[in-house]
Amino acid sequence: MNMPDPTPPDPAKPAAPSDAVAQALSLAIHRHRIAPGTKLGEDELAEIYGVSRTVIRAALQSLAHLRLVDIRRNRGAFVAQPSRQEAREVFEARELLEPRTARSAAAHAKPADIARLKRHIADEHAALAAADNGRAVHLSGLFHVEIARIAGQGTIAGFVETLIARSSLIVALYWHRESALCERHAHDALLRAIEQGDGPRAEDLMRSHLVDLHSALDLSHRSAPARSLKEALET
Ligand SMILES: [Zn+2]
Repeated sequence: MNMPDPTPPDPAKPAAPSDAVAQALSLAIHRHRIAPGTKLGEDELAEIYGVSRTVIRAALQSLAHLRLVDIRRNRGAFVAQPSRQEAREVFEARELLEPRTARSAAAHAKPADIARLKRHIADEHAALAAADNGRAVHLSGLFHVEIARIAGQGTIAGFVETLIARSSLIVALYWHRESALCERHAHDALLRAIEQGDGPRAEDLMRSHLVDLHSALDLSHRSAPARSLKEALET
């Protein structure tokens, strides 16, 4: 299969071709290669990725489930364009949920969980060192999803996963300075608190980290590079 955007070495390896396409598209969105609002034509994507339209449709459905893609009746699929109001709501929801999940993660983390979080941080640092901000955004989101999983609260972890996918898109759409990325030292400090089983500290660190992240977004200004889908995905 022709994969213009290499699949990142995430712990959850894609099993189906549609998962691989969904992951490549979500990475392309986070790397600012495809602008919010861009139409995602099934025929064009099928040609670009060398797969059937059925595979493309399944990939678009799974991205729609994460609200990275809007599927409009009779019009097809588009990269989602969260409004300022939605952006605020997503971050406020994260500020409500994630400090609690960080506290539970500190109570439940096993050595294998800590090792996995350390690998995530190392990958994030490598992406930042390579100036691949899109990949760094993607990986820093996964770090948060991982914490929610460690917390062992399946329902909340599901919410957090959706919120994080949406906030990665929001960061891609509204960031204008580097600090909109998760600060590397914020993740290091969180990891230490979780490793030490210090729930109250993990909760505080997560809260202030999310407030920082939220305030680094410029909701008055949208960045939207205009390119064709083919050009965006094949260069
Ligand atoms: Zn973070």
